[in-house]
Amino acid sequence: MKVITIVGARPQFIKSAPVSKALQSNGYQEFVIHTGQHYDPEMSNIFFEEMGLPKPYAILNCGNLKREEMLSRMKDELKPIFESIQPDIALVYGDTNSTLAGARMANECNIPLVHIEAGLRSYNEDMPEEHNRIESDHFAKWLFTPTQQATENLKREGFHGRVVEQVGDVMLDALQMFQSSARHTEKMGPVSFFQKPFALATMHRFENISRPERLAFLVNELNAFHNTVMPVWMPLHPATAVRLKDYGLNLSVQIAPPVGYLEMLWALKETSLVLTDSGGLQKEAYYSDKPSVTLRGETEWVELIEMGASVLFDPSQKEPLASIARKILSTFKPGTKAPYGDGKASRNIINALG
Ligand code: UDP
Repeated sequence: MKVITIVGARPQFIKSAPVSKALQSNGYQEFVIHTGQHYDPEMSNIFFEEMGLPKPYAILNCGNLKREEMLSRMKDELKPIFESIQPDIALVYGDTNSTLAGARMANECNIPLVHIEAGLRSYNEDMPEEHNRIESDHFAKWLFTPTQQATENLKREGFHGRVVEQVGDVMLDALQMFQSSARHTEKMGPVSFFQKPFALATMHRFENISRPERLAFLVNELNAFHNTVMPVWMPLHPATAVRLKDYGLNLSVQIAPPVGYLEMLWALKETSLVLTDSGGLQKEAYYSDKPSVTLRGETEWVELIEMGASVLFDPSQKEPLASIARKILSTFKPGTKAPYGDGKASRNIINALG
């Protein structure tokens, strides 16, 4: 059975690690196509190396483009590859432009599509991710959902005649696979920084960085948190670095370049609190028994909010980040990982594919 997997962004490399391994051990022949959406070595190669991902069959040159242009370039470059491989199944993850381009190409070439992390909704139409995930779901034959909420979203939208199966979160599989290899490296900064309480922060969502006022507001809040609550360590996403420079904004927190997954897992073990607009990191905080503040007005991972594991920091509200963070630090209690499965999502996916 030939599977063509389309990935292109950092979280997809991480999600694909346990699934690629499961495909391989079950006799599938996987052809990984890297769209080049994330192309910096720090955002791409490092994950292939440290997580032992399959060497891509092809690496496309679709980075650094606006959404429509990127989708159109991906389409042009994916087409001949689909035609030459003639896969039995196409597989995509999550909600990036690479997800949607892969889903559209599968549809155009009549290849049955597997969407992993199907059914998630933020109901925020300003997010390009929301459009990517909804359209990708519509093209999928197999919709593998990570949570009950995602399954219910699909049921409500009426995905009749498709396989909708709640398999759990592949990111929990990945975390369990790699947790024992977590490590500190020099690139993160001196180890002494991490020996006192600190918060781990990441921020890169388009809605947060694309407008100068919103980014300036978030920068001020992070700086205030850093100065009054505890030091912040922040591996900076390249897209955010560009915007900070363009808008002349200064983060006074402890900045690092983007780090690898094993370094993130180490930081997660050491940190007291996570501040993030990343969906993946919100869950990883919870899996690591740490509270988080979600730097957005809504989240797809609503269970975290319901369980008190994370709290939203909506930039339109009045309460400062420092005060919201102090509250969750005092109320948080680690919980079971039950809403996200048992770390066997990849096995469940293989079983469902039959
Ligand atoms: N991550 C990483 N290095 C970093 C920042 C994040 O390995 O410097 C990992 C993080 O632990 C999580 C994933 O990247 O597994 C999240 O990806 P990202 O924040 O790019 O995307 P999102 O979760 O928002 O889709």
